[in-house]
Amino acid sequence: MFSYRHAFHAGSHADILKHLTLIHLVEYLQEKPGALTIVDTHAGAGIYSLKDGFAAVSKEAEGGIVRLLEFIKQGKPISEGIQRYLEIVQTENTGDQLDAYPGSPFILARLLRPQDRLKLFELHPKEIDILRHNIGELKQAKQIDIYAEDSFTRLKGLLPPPSRRGLVLIDPSYEDKQDYRYLEEAMEEALQRFATGCYAIWYPTLSRRESAALPDRMKKIAVNHKRSWLHAELRVENAPGERRLQSSGMFIINPPWTLEKHLAEALPILSKALGIDGGAQFLLKSFEA
Ligand code: SAM
Repeated sequence: MFSYRHAFHAGSHADILKHLTLIHLVEYLQEKPGALTIVDTHAGAGIYSLKDGFAAVSKEAEGGIVRLLEFIKQGKPISEGIQRYLEIVQTENTGDQLDAYPGSPFILARLLRPQDRLKLFELHPKEIDILRHNIGELKQAKQIDIYAEDSFTRLKGLLPPPSRRGLVLIDPSYEDKQDYRYLEEAMEEALQRFATGCYAIWYPTLSRRESAALPDRMKKIAVNHKRSWLHAELRVENAPGERRLQSSGMFIINPPWTLEKHLAEALPILSKALGIDGGAQFLLKSFEA
């Protein structure tokens, strides 16, 4: 526990899939004027330097955001959703430079309207201090609560939100194998309390049994609660062994009707831009309850 630092993975292909999806969910939910409560159950540090620290050591952004920007420089067309995602990443940078990569807390904070609220959970003793410092610098800080607590057990206490309009991002590190079980328990409780919320779950596609079973477990929970779902995966590589993450997925419960089209446009482009062997591929499936 606590060896995971998201800075190592900032701007990776997995962050691109997650953040591109997240932005669409927020902007769809904001089409209505009612207040939106957003919960980010696994926040990380908020924003990451790509020029020094862990991100500069791992260089995962080179297989992600840097590669995507190079693809665009070659004049290749991209979808509106990818364009919007890049605009938001660029908000944290000057000109065309890519010095910083925003994590989900910064992406979400920048999108808040005055009536919206953001709740961030982070357990890591160092990350929580960095997160508090980073969020404190933002003009939206007053709309944001930060909890140094275990979100798997505390999420239910925030549901349903007072406005009954809510988005929950669940992005565990899965460093602890128990996270798979905690996720299922948290989703059961969350749907019992707030069945109409939109839930976005990120997961790594690994050969580990718990990881391979995750999408089917989530489908079962959604269908038992008579909820619609959408399942997307992006694989950038299909090499033997799992030395680095080659594929990840998003599982959305109560997805907006627009999300499938958004991802159907973006995923073929991302697999072309980020794929590093013939094994690049994507998956997109949905079910309407
Ligand atoms: N959501 C972030 C983003 O997209 O920028 C990345 C988050 S990272 C994958 C997962 C984070 O969750 C880590 O910083 C870890 O310390 C934290 N964490 C792990 N278990 C937790 C728990 N039970 N409750 C809250 N935070 C937890």
